[in-house]
Amino acid sequence: MEDSKINGEKGKFSPAFVDIQTAEVVEPPPSMGRRILRIFRKNLLIFLLILALCLGVGIGAALRTVEPKFDYRQLMYLKFPGDLLMNMLKMLILPLIVSSLISGLASLDTRSSGKMGGLAVAYYLITTFAAVVLGIILVVSIGPGYKGGDAKRSGSSKIVNTADTFLDLLRQCFPDNLIEIAFLKPVTEQKEIPYEEETMTTAIMNSTMSTMTTAIMNSTMSTNTTTEMTTSNTTTTPAPKKYLPEVGKTSGMNVLGVVTFSIFFGIIVGRLGEKAKAMKDFFDALNEVTMKLVSLVIWYSPIGVLFLVAHKVVEMENPEQTFQQLLYYFLTVMAGLFAHGFITLPLIYFIFVRKNPLKFIAGVAQAIFTALGTSSSSATLPITMRCLEQNNGVDRRVTKFVAPVGATINMDGTALYEAVAVIFIGQMQGYDLSIGQIIIISITATTAAIGAAGVPQAGLVTMVIVLTAVGFPTEDVTLILAIDWLLDRFRTAINVLGDAFGAGIVAHLARNELKNMDNDIEFGDGQTNNGYISSTLDERL
Ligand code: ASP
Repeated sequence: MEDSKINGEKGKFSPAFVDIQTAEVVEPPPSMGRRILRIFRKNLLIFLLILALCLGVGIGAALRTVEPKFDYRQLMYLKFPGDLLMNMLKMLILPLIVSSLISGLASLDTRSSGKMGGLAVAYYLITTFAAVVLGIILVVSIGPGYKGGDAKRSGSSKIVNTADTFLDLLRQCFPDNLIEIAFLKPVTEQKEIPYEEETMTTAIMNSTMSTMTTAIMNSTMSTNTTTEMTTSNTTTTPAPKKYLPEVGKTSGMNVLGVVTFSIFFGIIVGRLGEKAKAMKDFFDALNEVTMKLVSLVIWYSPIGVLFLVAHKVVEMENPEQTFQQLLYYFLTVMAGLFAHGFITLPLIYFIFVRKNPLKFIAGVAQAIFTALGTSSSSATLPITMRCLEQNNGVDRRVTKFVAPVGATINMDGTALYEAVAVIFIGQMQGYDLSIGQIIIISITATTAAIGAAGVPQAGLVTMVIVLTAVGFPTEDVTLILAIDWLLDRFRTAINVLGDAFGAGIVAHLARNELKNMDNDIEFGDGQTNNGYISSTLDERL
């Protein structure tokens, strides 16, 4: 009984013993079965998510063979549990981003937040650009556009103007209405100007007219015949279509607006110190509550992921043919994503942090699988933050700031995919690409990825910016449309992994500032205030 008490397991006999020489309690090594059980229990959610992904593919493949084929309504029902997961995660995005950024930034002094912000932005830019360069090297050396069959166009593309898209990003950062940002965002649409029909040739016109006149004059023809003749002889050509930009609002959360507002709001709350303490406490509490809600949603995620994946597999049209045509393109993007996520990023992490990057990846595995299931880094954000804090022990003050901003603007996977896709299209269509154009692709792909929202297939939309920049027709995007949903899942996973590594690296590089804040600032009751600034207002402003 004594032993079991020492061992901490009340009421249970445990064969622990005391080493006579060292006088230490020595635990017998746990049995193999116990060890496996422990690992399983610790990683239960990850196992469930992997199982859900596999089952989703299996069930989807089995359902594809069912005759008659699933109709629209049945597909909708199949996706329903997945839709619920997406809704739950999306529902949490707004309170989570607002509360984490405000409470995170309010806890930092200006110097620390400035340093962390600078480090984070440098990390985002360097890694995104590295991903683009890697993608370009791979696509140029493999040349997927010269191999495989001819890809067919599917769907249609939108008319996009590069300058307007960049202006939209700034418009989204500074919204005109704070309430609206939860469900509307400004976008410039290219509205077609109605053109005037021009009559083709006067000759045809004249002959028609004269025929008509003669016919009428002779009164030998009926009115009907006259009308028929007119339509058959007169050819009209449309003038080239003209478009005018029109700034409107489209439905969807304006995440950039939410992030920008929360960053400034958080910094000011921090600077005001005691005066705005109520605000800080409020957002701290909101953050705690939201994270608790995340813990609940997390247990539903395997079910949602299963149905999301099964639905997608059943919905696929002609997968064999599509894969054959786009196989090399698919493999090039996958090779790039893999190399970036599992070689470049871990290497950067190891160089700066000197810790095992594989352990770090294992810690965020749950977020990676959720990204695979949801195709959305914003929807995965709650889980990314939870993994970083609970599994990888990243300082909350860092995750609160770096993860939400990362989920919004840091998209390594998307940047890599956009560069590969555009060059692949160029190779397939036989467009010659100069070095200058490749440099343009590398810069625009980086910016287009920053502009892409963390929602499914947002990268496909911003890729039009890259296509336009190098003068390719935007409808060429339809060549890769058929396979985009699948690549989207993998690039989202790498986007999330990039955000996670970013938080880990920034937390390490800013560790001294964080420690100083812990030491410096203490309330009278002896409890640290998690970095809350207690200097005077004058000092702060
Ligand atoms: N789905 C991606 C994400 O949420 C964006 C994209 O590349 O389409 O990160």
